Amino acid sequence: MKIHEYQAKEIFRKYNITTSKEKIAFSLEEAKIISKELQFPIVVKAQVLVGGRGKAGGVKIAKTQQELESVVSTILGMNIKGLVVKKVLLAEAVKIENEYYVGITIDREIRAPVLIASASGGMDIEEVASKTPEKIISVSISPLLGLKSFQARDIGYQLFNEAPLVNSFIAFVTNLTKIFFDLDCSLVEINPLALVNINNERKLIALDAKIIFDDNALYRHPEMIALRDIDSEEPSEVQAKKADLSYVKLDGNVGCVVNGAGLAMATMDLIKRYGGNPANFLDIGGSSSPEKMREAMKILTADKNVKAVLVNIFGGITRCDDVAQGLLWAIKEEKINLPIVARLVGTNQDKAKALLTNSPVIFAETMTDGVKKVIGTLKG
Ligand code: ADP
Ligand code: MG
Repeated sequence: MKIHEYQAKEIFRKYNITTSKEKIAFSLEEAKIISKELQFPIVVKAQVLVGGRGKAGGVKIAKTQQELESVVSTILGMNIKGLVVKKVLLAEAVKIENEYYVGITIDREIRAPVLIASASGGMDIEEVASKTPEKIISVSISPLLGLKSFQARDIGYQLFNEAPLVNSFIAFVTNLTKIFFDLDCSLVEINPLALVNINNERKLIALDAKIIFDDNALYRHPEMIALRDIDSEEPSEVQAKKADLSYVKLDGNVGCVVNGAGLAMATMDLIKRYGGNPANFLDIGGSSSPEKMREAMKILTADKNVKAVLVNIFGGITRCDDVAQGLLWAIKEEKINLPIVARLVGTNQDKAKALLTNSPVIFAETMTDGVKKVIGTLKG
């Protein structure tokens, strides 16, 4: 579960992590009132559950009350990566000397949390990581013992050459680690952790905040569940969750309907391997009904980027004829005109084949065959 920057920063402050001075506004009227409690210049920040807001025009500075009103009006209602901005955070602008990155996430390969830091933080961190990976420092955190002070100090000295800043950095990462473990997070991140100069005092403050909770541990944190903003989540993913489907929207154009997370991942890999781009991850689950299949197709094809669909089912408890029935319903009721390739093997595969015989669905015998065929339809 993701939360907004302003919510993450409330948690930061509870853990003694310094943030910018700021207030949240849900409307222009509210922003006008709140701005009186802050000092100009004020940074207006779109609160949406995606990163890269700055580059998308969702973070803007206002020097005067008039500018603030115009910036807030522009950002409220703005569409950032498919999500509509419904609230803005007003933060006092600070003069930044340098932007650092610090985050903790799980490294699945080493099966432990990992602390990642860089002196080249800010909006281009992804590019820094891919083009100059030597600028990224990372250290694994013992799941049993937590972050050791020497580890924090070591990274601190790699990033800063003044003891007060190193000490401040150690406090930041110690508190960040506390949040990560206390709240069962899968990610906590400060980007940028800014080195600023306020009244001739150089210090570190968190200008951005990101927290993602591990859904499987959320039951242990009812107060965090309350922070959930369904209204701001990717609408198709919310709809999928309601239908008990695991769905993650991606940027490609090949829609995938698969049963089982492993098979779904393998299908996506194979699509990539043959030069295609998956539009989504979708696991319809182990015991699928025709209704669930219809819902999956509906969610999938609502994404206008989807140009063809691959249905890859290995029927065990899931019956292929149920999948075929759902597929037929979806084609008819949702008036789906896209090429659909289906590979249905396992329980009741013959019944499925019989059901789909006079439909527009293209059959595939194997996974590779299916992937080649679906990519073929895009080229044709
Ligand atoms: P995102 O990561 O979604 O692009 P950020 O909150 O990191 O959004 O903001 C983008 C950039 O805007 C930051 O890297 C920083 O340079 C600048 N910025 C953000 N908040 C402030 C602030 N309070 N004062 C000055 N600059 C800021
Ligand atoms: Mg940021």
